[in-house]
Amino acid sequence: MRTYADYNATAPLRPEALAAMTAALGAANPSSVHGEGRAARRFVERAREQVAFALGGSARDLVFTGGGTEANALGLLGGLAAERLEAGRDVRLFVSAIEHDAVWEPARASGVPTVVVPVDGTGRLDLEALSELLATHRGPAATAMVALMAANNETGVIQPVAEAAGLLRAWAAERPDRRVRLHVDAVQMLGKLPLNATLMGADTLAVSAHKCGGPQGAGALWVRPGAGQEPLQRGGGQERSLRAGTENVPALAGFGAAAEAATASLAPEARRLGQLRDRFEVQLQAAIPTLVVHGGAAPRLPNTSNFGLAGLRAETQVMALDLGGVALSAGAACSSGKVRASRTLLAMGVDQGLAGGSLRASFGFLSEAQDFDRVAGAFIAHVARLRPDAVRAAAPQLTESM
Ligand code: PLP
Repeated sequence: MRTYADYNATAPLRPEALAAMTAALGAANPSSVHGEGRAARRFVERAREQVAFALGGSARDLVFTGGGTEANALGLLGGLAAERLEAGRDVRLFVSAIEHDAVWEPARASGVPTVVVPVDGTGRLDLEALSELLATHRGPAATAMVALMAANNETGVIQPVAEAAGLLRAWAAERPDRRVRLHVDAVQMLGKLPLNATLMGADTLAVSAHKCGGPQGAGALWVRPGAGQEPLQRGGGQERSLRAGTENVPALAGFGAAAEAATASLAPEARRLGQLRDRFEVQLQAAIPTLVVHGGAAPRLPNTSNFGLAGLRAETQVMALDLGGVALSAGAACSSGKVRASRTLLAMGVDQGLAGGSLRASFGFLSEAQDFDRVAGAFIAHVARLRPDAVRAAAPQLTESM
């Protein structure tokens, strides 16, 4: 029996998503005007309503993409392109230190002067630092393009996005020729906690299907009405000409159904998972007193736990736990399967040794108390083998049976 604790990498497909995808398989081209095309269009538009509702926006402001990475690139680079349409603007990018590569890499590739905004030791954006950094951008016709995440994928720490948006507005109000643009990566927030793009003060907001029980390779960018937005790829006029290409109808149908199902059970699920996660961490720390829970002092996604012990290698732990039937990850999963020292943990001031020995367990709609117990039991047993000194002798003996 295996235990899956890697929902932040990809959540299992929800049954509602599978049913919706099955119904939409073989759909015609949603841009065709005939009956078959119109039937396909209905799948897409229903999904647009469902996803828009889940992120507190209106369906007409949603652009479907091929995933969260693409939605972030579109928001960031398409947003920068829109700002640069006006000649002479002094555009500067402000990116939080804990952004996912899906934001970090397009920011780097954009060639726009980029300022990294630090986080504090709990993993939350340092608002004071943001204010100070914004104050250095004081020339005429200044645009501040700011990229923040709603919740961090590794620690689950929820970011003060609405507060940051307030600071941006205050900075912009100091001069009539200033402009701000806030892009929010809400990929890890959708379906886990209430999300409202408008209340957050976002201009663009990216989400992804497979993090909330939909299929991989589907995502969306919400664009605030009135916010200029340029496309990255041009072709047919799909998605209001902001994302050319025939829509992936079954994937979008699955995305819509997953977003709807996740949103319908949001509050009780958040409470249930939060209680189980807290109990899990108490269990771990009772057995291993020197264990550090990263971000534990900040508000977090209820499904996520990031913990570590100096002197252990996360990669080795992931493999050992995998052999024992537990699937979790070492911080962010990356395509090569290689584990790098976590940028998020380093930005929080965690030293290299501890950052390199930290794991992320993330749970979700199929996780029950026994799944949390199995992960805790397997981890404690693993540490007891490698570092017997670190495990308290009187710790409750959890079975490693999986
Ligand atoms: N942003 C965050 C915070 C993520 O966790 C991920 C996925 O790991 C992405 C963006 C990328 O989304 P996708 O896998 O749909 O491209």
